[in-house]
Amino acid sequence: MSEIATTDRLDAPAALARVKDEIAAACRDARRDPASVTLIAVSKTFPSEAIEPVLAAGQRVFGENRVQEAKAKWPALKASCPDVELHLIGPLQSNKAKEAVALFDAIHAVDRSSLAEALAKEIVRQDRHPMLFAEINTGAEPQKAGVLPEAADAFLRACREAYGLRIDGLMCIPPLDEAPAPHFALTAKIAKRNGLALLSMGMSADFKTAIAFGATHVRVGSAIFGTRG
Ligand SMILES: *Cc1c(COP(=O)(O)O)cnc(C)c1O
Repeated sequence: MSEIATTDRLDAPAALARVKDEIAAACRDARRDPASVTLIAVSKTFPSEAIEPVLAAGQRVFGENRVQEAKAKWPALKASCPDVELHLIGPLQSNKAKEAVALFDAIHAVDRSSLAEALAKEIVRQDRHPMLFAEINTGAEPQKAGVLPEAADAFLRACREAYGLRIDGLMCIPPLDEAPAPHFALTAKIAKRNGLALLSMGMSADFKTAIAFGATHVRVGSAIFGTRG
């Protein structure tokens, strides 16, 4: 074992505690109940050895962005820690809907009809009901996944009426080079008018702002696990 790995193992639980303190402070500032914000520890790219100390520190909700990577890492980790809640935060191909429904407790990037249809089928077939978030491309960035804000209401209606799919909330990833607040506000507004209770928004750099705008799920990776290699 290298010295660097040893240091990382000691650091992640301390970083986790700091992030939790900052979430609590942001909730106080926003006059929100800290229990209304779920911290998703984003462990993508980090090996099981880096995740174990964070599990040992009591963290139970984790995020991964690739189905294959999660399949390789999490069955063993879950065997020793069955109450883990696993969130898929990255894009999902329709042909991986079956694996995603089997493995994940939440899916954050539902953004097109073909995927909604594939998920609806698997949810019925497997009788497993992961929490579902529709991703909104609030910055209308051409390279980014997500439904355009002006198409969101129709997409949510189609999920419900055409596929019988219950969407629980919305997710967004603001453009890197812009202030995130307007994007969080827009996502919250679309959720509110569609009667959706959950908001997946805020990452290491902006989770405090996201909490001020009503985030119920913050996705925090590097602030807990360190910089991704
Ligand atoms: C990687 C990732 C995160 C975590 O990002 P950090 O800046 O490391 O906190 C959050 N959300 C999504 C969708 C991601 O892909």
